[in-house]
Amino acid sequence: MQSFELTVLGCSSATPTSTRNPTSQLLNIADRFMLVDCGEATQIQLRRFKIKFQRINHIFISHLHGDHYLGLVGLLASMHLLGRNNDLHLYAPPELQEILDVQHKHSQTFLRYKVVFHPLGFDQSELLFEDDKLTVETIILNHRIPCCGFLFKEKPRPRNILTQALEKYRIPVHVLGKIKRGDDYINEQGVTIANAEITEAPPAPRSFAYCSDTCYDESVIEKVKGVDLLYHEATFMQEMEERAKETFHSTTIDAATVAKKAAVKKLIIGHYSARYKDLDKLLAETQSVFENTVLALEGEVYSP
Ligand SMILES: [Zn+2]
Ligand SMILES: [Zn+2]
Repeated sequence: MQSFELTVLGCSSATPTSTRNPTSQLLNIADRFMLVDCGEATQIQLRRFKIKFQRINHIFISHLHGDHYLGLVGLLASMHLLGRNNDLHLYAPPELQEILDVQHKHSQTFLRYKVVFHPLGFDQSELLFEDDKLTVETIILNHRIPCCGFLFKEKPRPRNILTQALEKYRIPVHVLGKIKRGDDYINEQGVTIANAEITEAPPAPRSFAYCSDTCYDESVIEKVKGVDLLYHEATFMQEMEERAKETFHSTTIDAATVAKKAAVKKLIIGHYSARYKDLDKLLAETQSVFENTVLALEGEVYSP
């Protein structure tokens, strides 16, 4: 089974607390290590949880509020100081290029590796990345400034050929690729053996959707329909509904309602306001609408 793991590095909203850091998550799908947002303590958290940062080749930044990117210039500098050579792909609002250029210009920093900048568009969802294992698309969110989430999807895998069928029908190696793609096997005598008899279905492709920051927005529901894991911000308890609306954030019930209407398999809430010491209250309130909810906690690893 290929890897599919989400590690939460930071789960706080705007300001860090003594126990929580601003937003960042590390996703590993099929050994592709991708960083989603990069709040202030991100590189320290990567160290703390013993994650090798040079394995990260893709960084996705949702928007330009500081709690989602202020750790980036430090992380880029450490990658440089530690001798990185590989290209780093950065998917971010276009203005971030200018912010990085200013910081690098005045510190006379010349990164020894290439940062390949992919500016995000915010009018409609777009495909950002694709290889043989996965795709990454944007999810347009509704926040005070342009903001998007990200949808990570495994690609369907080929069918598994049954070991006993290989022996029984003495299937030659050169036809295995076609059989994995669904073809029947026709043996030397011209007899057809149905694909279903010699293969089994692969595990279903898995998916993860990241939605932070956003107010409650029904357009998100369609985009995240049926995902295995949904991370949705829940900055406030429901009693702070008005404050959530003013600041274009979500409450526990907003996050749960999106999860329920989209029929996702599991909801992870996070981006907690610093005012909450006891996160169990946020969890209980979310679970009152969507039971299969867990809290985003730093250092925890989540899988579908
Ligand atoms: Zn935020
Ligand atoms: Zn924000």
